[in-house]
Amino acid sequence: MSQPSSAPAVTVGVLKETAPGEQRVAVVPESVPLLARAGVRVLVETGAGTAAWFPDGAYERVGATIASREDVVGGADVLAGVGAPPPELIAQLRDGQVVIGVMHPLVQPELARQLARAGVTAISLDGLPRTVSRAQTMDALTSQATVAGYKAVLVAADTFGRFFPMLITAAGTSRPASVLVLGAGVAGLEAMGTAHRLGAVVTGYDIRPETQEQIASVGARFLRLTSVAPAEGEGGYARALTAEEQAAQQAELAAKIARFDVVITTAQVPGRRPPLLVTAEAVKGMQTGSVLVDLAASSLGGNVEGSVADQMVLTGDGVRIIGAGNLPAQVPSAASAAYSHNIVALLADLVRDGSLTIDLADEIQAGVVITHQGTVVHPAVAALLGSPAEGGSR
Ligand code: NAD
Repeated sequence: MSQPSSAPAVTVGVLKETAPGEQRVAVVPESVPLLARAGVRVLVETGAGTAAWFPDGAYERVGATIASREDVVGGADVLAGVGAPPPELIAQLRDGQVVIGVMHPLVQPELARQLARAGVTAISLDGLPRTVSRAQTMDALTSQATVAGYKAVLVAADTFGRFFPMLITAAGTSRPASVLVLGAGVAGLEAMGTAHRLGAVVTGYDIRPETQEQIASVGARFLRLTSVAPAEGEGGYARALTAEEQAAQQAELAAKIARFDVVITTAQVPGRRPPLLVTAEAVKGMQTGSVLVDLAASSLGGNVEGSVADQMVLTGDGVRIIGAGNLPAQVPSAASAAYSHNIVALLADLVRDGSLTIDLADEIQAGVVITHQGTVVHPAVAALLGSPAEGGSR
């Protein structure tokens, strides 16, 4: 472990997450020496890492300071969190303080307005320009989606009443489970690969045609729909479908879904509600004992009609729909370690000559800095709030 060349000039505070069911922590002990090298001191709230199996002592051993929540909020220049800062924390923040998290400001722009009013600089990692190579180590959406895709398969396998692999034993032969994964982004491809490794027969579908090869590369078959044309958007994302396209897609999927034992849905369109792919009619057509895992399920809706965030719904036909919008929280050690690497990479980029430098002309910062010096500076978020962005050259 190398020592910092001079006394750290920036203090990062790590609070215990307060969102229901959240077990992750934004910075893990392994990252503390790396942050020290970048000129960053780490203050950790008592018990912040406990739910992710990182006890206070593990932080202290690598040079972090354990303190009360009040002292962390008061002493930190930057507060690193996993999600958006909760309202009671926003009320305690001071002018000039920086908060980092995954805040989805395009979906909840009001939060940006509140943070701007508090004079807080808000950095939201979901705005990262992911194709910029310098940004890839900071890509929290990717790191967490990987965890979600993996865990979705384990949750499905744990809920499903049969085996995933084909098993030939003296007590009989079990046919492999047939698994359909809708959406072949980071989470979807990870889910396909994991289900394939468990021995299931896996099929994948996405509205972006370039995913066909990626689906094949993780051992899955591509599901071809003929009723809906390809729908690439910008930056490798999908665009939102029109109402007619969506209805056609739902109808064609409904006819195909009945033959699958397990359906895992991962479809998202940036800044929008998740698209509804599986209708109640389609769920009705599935066999008793089938399982759906909806990774898009949140208070904004999901990919499966009838899914409820963080709950399992058992339909009258014996089909289970699992609303699983925050699976990374259920793999807290791995998810926290990956997220913490993202935070280290971001801070290493932001701390220049011993101080945190906000530079809205920088292409990474242009994507992630949402509010600064009392203004909502992110143009897309500002536009949603009906006010022009200021302070940047974007
Ligand atoms: P995402 O979470 O935005 O969406 C998940 C998937 O849902 C996407 O593949 C999308 O096409 C699909 N989808 C949306 N609407 C759909 C519909 N109606 N029907 C079927 N599928 C639908 O995606 P993501 O995981 O964040 O990945 C988005 C893109 O970013 C991908 O092209 C990915 O390869 C790319 N990416 C690039 C990098 C990099 O360059 N370093 C890193 C991560 C992701």
